[in-house]
Amino acid sequence: MLSYKAPIRDIKFLFEDVFDYYGHYQKHPEYAEATPDLVDAIFAECAKFSENELLPLNQSGDKEGCKFDNGVVTTPKGFKEAYQQYVAGGWQSLSHPIEQGGQGLPPSMGMVKSEMMGTANWSWGMYPGLSHGAMNTIQEHGSDEQKELYLTRLTEGTWTGTMCLTEPQCGTDLGQVKTKAVPNDDGTYDITGTKIFISAGEHDLTENIVHIVLARLPDAPEGTRGISLFIVPKIQSDQQGNLGEGNNVTCGSIEDKMGIKASATAVLNFDNAKGVLIGPENKGLECMFTFMNTARVGTALQGVCTAELAYQNSLLYAKERLSMRSLSGKKAPEKVADPIIVHPDVRKMLMTQKAISEGGRAMIYYTAKLVDDIESAKTEDERKAADDRLGFITPILKAFLTELGCESASHGMQIFGGHGYIKEWGMEQIVRDARISTLYEGTTGIQALDLLGRKILLTRGVALKEFAMEILGFCKDHSMISGYSHKRQMNKFIWPLSKAVASWQQYSLRIALKARKDRDFIGACSVDYLMYSGYIVMAYFWAQMAQSAYEKLASGVEDRDFYRAKIKTAEFYFERMLPRTKSLAKTMMADPKTLMQLDGELLSFL
Ligand SMILES: Cc1cc2nc3c(=O)[nH]c(=O)nc-3n(C[C@H](O)[C@H](O)[C@H](O)COP(=O)(O)OP(=O)(O)OC[C@H]3O[C@@H](n4cnc5c(N)ncnc54)[C@H](O)[C@@H]3O)c2cc1C
Repeated sequence: MLSYKAPIRDIKFLFEDVFDYYGHYQKHPEYAEATPDLVDAIFAECAKFSENELLPLNQSGDKEGCKFDNGVVTTPKGFKEAYQQYVAGGWQSLSHPIEQGGQGLPPSMGMVKSEMMGTANWSWGMYPGLSHGAMNTIQEHGSDEQKELYLTRLTEGTWTGTMCLTEPQCGTDLGQVKTKAVPNDDGTYDITGTKIFISAGEHDLTENIVHIVLARLPDAPEGTRGISLFIVPKIQSDQQGNLGEGNNVTCGSIEDKMGIKASATAVLNFDNAKGVLIGPENKGLECMFTFMNTARVGTALQGVCTAELAYQNSLLYAKERLSMRSLSGKKAPEKVADPIIVHPDVRKMLMTQKAISEGGRAMIYYTAKLVDDIESAKTEDERKAADDRLGFITPILKAFLTELGCESASHGMQIFGGHGYIKEWGMEQIVRDARISTLYEGTTGIQALDLLGRKILLTRGVALKEFAMEILGFCKDHSMISGYSHKRQMNKFIWPLSKAVASWQQYSLRIALKARKDRDFIGACSVDYLMYSGYIVMAYFWAQMAQSAYEKLASGVEDRDFYRAKIKTAEFYFERMLPRTKSLAKTMMADPKTLMQLDGELLSFL
């Protein structure tokens, strides 16, 4: 049986000690209501809902899965009731604008909510999760009428949203999209085509579903420049939201897949379904990026949720399971054997999981602050500064944290030994559920190309330079020049971090030079480069957490064990995880020749 307790202490540490979230909220007048008392109360309620309502449906949902019968999809037992409770509790509207019926709290609070609910039950969380992206897209690109009709209902949660990009012939290469949109005289469009792999594409949780669909107008240019974006409801309605006829959107089937079995992944057939254009003609992919960016940060969060769930369960097991004796002498002489937590190899796996989960959480909360800044920016310059940083860090977050989430899940299975492979314990489900995270919302390979190609090489590394300056500024502020003892102790983090950041910039430049001569160099090194970047970014946040912990200890705080544990985990990260950059640096600079020299026809002699 899986267990989960929301990591409220860790969340409080990040909110109060590391990122000064309350100072940040006070800077934005629209978030002034987010006081510590209110935030604590909301997070405590969210923890209760996640632990008591969603967690118990996690393994049963996996076992039962979604059912498909003649176009109708039924979610597992308890899912609908939990969703109704979620809507009644106002959770969907928490961090959406008051004008649309939202509660106007900051997006960062919504991120913490999604973390707790997603850790308790990722499959369930995908139904309301997809709606957030639909809401953000309509909010940013929709007309007033579209907002009035769709946004209010999505915000209440009475309707849910989807993202319809993928077709049988293309997922990554959306330039190949074939779905057609033919204009009608009344300003609507007839949408015809097949979309596959649509998460929450059909279900029984709400009365209507709002599909956000990529399609081509007649005579549109080929490729990505000829794609437009449409809102296509499952059921048509009047402007007041009163439901009318079905809209010729049918669910052909749902996928029988490896994990997230309680999340319906639908094949949707659009057969002259009525839709309305959102955003300008042929600019659909640009508008869809709003959705995809929301979804990418949301998927990065899945890495943290996976790591946390795997860690919590592994830790409980490692304290209970007895096997042999510690090499350095008996640790539990009163028992027939020591618990496996005493063995360094098991401890290494646990510490790795802990470092991933807490380091990943810090990366996400840093990013959530940027999202708040974008939403509440008063000038275009402010908005752009936060948006550029978000654009730079998103592919790192998405790919690095999901890859590490899978690593943590795999360690979890290993810590359970043979029992990890048996369904009852839930560890094999965590591995299965996690595996999709490196695939959807752009595979790791595609995120790596986005980072290196678009975010580094195309912009001549401006965003990297600015982020590196921020990290080096932190290093300067906390280096040994100061006489405070905790600042001297920070040197074990500051020196390796400064060196790593300097190398990051040098390697980026060397890659740019090599790429000029050999374009294959980019594709050959990009995933290693992304992972290399990820370890450095995570090191920055571990150093920040260690610094905050030292400061709290120096201030005579009572909760000393918590802060000491942070520093020890930071030490582990710097000694045993950051050095992975050395190997990645070596492979990312290797000649692409060894990848490409063997003719494709000669890869097998079968
Ligand atoms: C459970 C599930 C839920 C999903 N939910 C949704 C959803 O809600 N909405 C939606 O629209 N889609 C959804 N998807 C689709 C998902 O986003 C795509 O499967 C994913 O983007 C990859 O596309 P593909 O499967 O067509 O793989 P392909 O594009 O065929 O890629 C195959 C492999 O080739 C690599 N590759 C492709 N092009 C390049 C390149 N130029 N350079 C280097 N490597 C390359 C890829 O990285 C990958 O490893 C979902 C998929 C699944 C399985």
